[in-house]
Amino acid sequence: HSYMCVPLRSHGKTLGAMTLGADAGWRPLCRTDLVIAEQLATRAGAAIEKAQLHQAVENELAERRRAEGALRRHEAEQAMILDTVRAMIWYKDANNRVLRCNRAAARYAGRPVSKIEGRLVSDFMPAARARAYHLNDLAVIASGQPKIGELEEVKLRGGARCWMQRDTLPHRDENGAIVGVVIIAVDVTKRKRAEDLAVARERAEREFVANVSHEFRTPVAAIKGFTQTLREGAWRDEADRSRFLNIIEANADRLDAMVGDLLTLSTLEGSAPRQPGETSVHRVAHGCAKSLLSRAKRKRLSVDVSVPRGLRVKMGQAHLGEALGHLLDNAIKFTPPDGWVRLRARGSKRGAFIVVEDSGIGIPSADLPRIFDRFYRVAKGAKSGSPGLGLHLVKKIVGAYGGQVSVRSRLAGGSAFRVALPAAAPQR
Ligand code: ADP
Repeated sequence: HSYMCVPLRSHGKTLGAMTLGADAGWRPLCRTDLVIAEQLATRAGAAIEKAQLHQAVENELAERRRAEGALRRHEAEQAMILDTVRAMIWYKDANNRVLRCNRAAARYAGRPVSKIEGRLVSDFMPAARARAYHLNDLAVIASGQPKIGELEEVKLRGGARCWMQRDTLPHRDENGAIVGVVIIAVDVTKRKRAEDLAVARERAEREFVANVSHEFRTPVAAIKGFTQTLREGAWRDEADRSRFLNIIEANADRLDAMVGDLLTLSTLEGSAPRQPGETSVHRVAHGCAKSLLSRAKRKRLSVDVSVPRGLRVKMGQAHLGEALGHLLDNAIKFTPPDGWVRLRARGSKRGAFIVVEDSGIGIPSADLPRIFDRFYRVAKGAKSGSPGLGLHLVKKIVGAYGGQVSVRSRLAGGSAFRVALPAAAPQR
């Protein structure tokens, strides 16, 4: 029969209401009860507010823990991806400081990730290179434009060289402001080498065809020219006829020799270059010298061959003849009159060694590294009579049998070509 309702309030905010009632067995509620009820309601309001606040804090903490967990998972995933990719990845700020890098990048820099992150690039790279990288970064930071696919040749610790392909991208914060760069670099050394090789091969093929055509043109022109002269009446004069026919024959021989060289070259580049068998160096060396003797005599050159009789090499006779023939031919060709040419050979446990020496014009030291290259001649204009294939063939032939050829020479001081070959058991 009596009733009162008071608001539950805290900090001026009504959170609910509290109702008190008394039935017939009780006395009616009075003003004093109201004061007590109001005080009770104030305390209850404060307690309820506190509980609500506590709940809110709890909720927020749980939410934060969830977000932190998700962030950690995301970071771990990112780190795993960063470390699994083969590309090197660097995050840098605008001062050339590494904020983050992956393992591939650390391997490249030659130190652990922990000794790179947080450091300036100049702390672990040569100053000039660090500066060049920084300038590159600053250009990207200033323009906001990425630089994609830049190629760079890099000298690694220990002297090895490699090729890097690099993308530099602007790194933005959550508001879109550029705070640094992300660099992604890939080692493309293998691909670059293969490309360079392919280009060099293509160039060599083109040069080869051009050289061969060029070398053929001169004797063909001579043959055509003198045939024409004979046809126009020179054949009537006995002396002219003989002279012109000799020239035609010499040029035909030159063409024949060139075709022979080219055929040898093509078989040596093919799959089965070796000729089976063992060959007496004594017999082949004397045979070669004999066939060139008349040319040597014309220049009054002394030709001396000194080879132990039993010395044999594991090499086909025709190939040994071709190699020694080219060396002796050059020695005679490049030695002025009244000089000497010598072929000496000896055998040892390590193999057979043949040296072809002359007192000739020698080879400038600048040309020595390329002297065995295909079509290489010291004096390009000189009419040597062959296209610069001789020494290349010698190297190819000797190499096909596991041997080596080297040269020692000085300008105007003669030359010595040394051939090392696997020796065969001496013949009794
Ligand atoms: P070619 O004799 O057709 O010119 P080679 O490959 O045999 O070609 O020799 C290449 C070059 O090396 C020659 O043009 C010559 O300049 C130089 N050369 C080779 N042998 C000698 C030598 N014994 N003395 C001086 N120069 C030489």
